Amino acid sequence: HAFVRFRAQIIDTREVFAAWFEPDHFILRRAVPFFVDRFAGMEWLIATPIGTALWRDRELVFGPPVSKPATTEDAMLDEVWTAYYRTTFNPARLRVKAMTSEMPKHYWRNLPEAASIPALVAGARTRTDGMAARAPDAAPAFAAAVGSRIATGADATVPATPLGQIAAEEETCRRCPLYANATQVVPGEGPAEARLMIVGEQPGDQEDIAGRPFVGPAGQVLDRALEEAGLDRAELFLTNAVKHFKFEPRGKRRLHKKPNAGEVTACRWWLDREIATVRPRLIVALGATAAGALAGHAVSVMRERGPADFADGPGFITVHPSFLLRLPDPAEKARQYDLFVADLRKAGAIARGDGRG
Ligand code: URA
Ligand code: SF4
Repeated sequence: HAFVRFRAQIIDTREVFAAWFEPDHFILRRAVPFFVDRFAGMEWLIATPIGTALWRDRELVFGPPVSKPATTEDAMLDEVWTAYYRTTFNPARLRVKAMTSEMPKHYWRNLPEAASIPALVAGARTRTDGMAARAPDAAPAFAAAVGSRIATGADATVPATPLGQIAAEEETCRRCPLYANATQVVPGEGPAEARLMIVGEQPGDQEDIAGRPFVGPAGQVLDRALEEAGLDRAELFLTNAVKHFKFEPRGKRRLHKKPNAGEVTACRWWLDREIATVRPRLIVALGATAAGALAGHAVSVMRERGPADFADGPGFITVHPSFLLRLPDPAEKARQYDLFVADLRKAGAIARGDGRG
């Protein structure tokens, strides 16, 4: 199957792929089903000293043996194939034994590329010696700059980017499919010097239309809770784990759909950039999606609520305000809301440097 080389030929005005092959055993009939499967849409002929197999008009016909053709040449194709073989041959990986066991020598006479093998093998040593003797290439111009940045301990993996530039780049993001149906991207919002960053899940219906985070119902709960916790929204950086609204159309409405792990991972690219630029003292994750994105593993909010170690530094896990909106029992709602405010108050204290709450 591996050593048959077809060459395109015109026979009776039809294009036929013909191969001359000299098998050691009477395997023609057993081997052709493979070619029928593989090249069902073409016409081909395998000619051997023990018989021929022709696939034409979706029919397989076995014929009498033929003698080796005077020429099996399609010089140009052979040249391309041989050139390909020569350039992919790595002299530093010369394994003559493996080569001859994978491509037994007795097949070589009908393999166009085989003619170049002896010369490649003979020249391998000289070529590897030459590679070893040659001086290494000079380091590219940027290497010194990168090296000094790493040496000074600055974050060399994700450089700070002006927030406006991050937002502009997010507009053309195609890292996951969510850009396609959303109205627009919703970038993070707030001062680049913010000490506290708050990360939600994804924009909702109203955020998608406004192009700003936390302006819908969940945003209103958050605003009220921030105020009660003594935090000024204008001093915080508010963003989301995922920057495009994911939804399912239902009549005139768009129903929120949870982003999946692939989308969250794809969008971390942007969250990383925001974090590298703002470098907040504390990152608050609202709900499991944000906490998962920042922790790098699945998080149970109820179990891990409170101070947390995120890959990017100190974090704090609390509930998402939409969780409060969904609670049906007014007493439980009020109780959970108070806990949420208490969490935000603690987070504010940590970000100010007043200790861990
Ligand atoms: N919910 C979020 O998680 N983020 C928003 O921006 C709005 C609602
Ligand atoms: Fe890009 Fe995030 Fe939007 Fe996906 S959701 S397209 S990753 S900005």
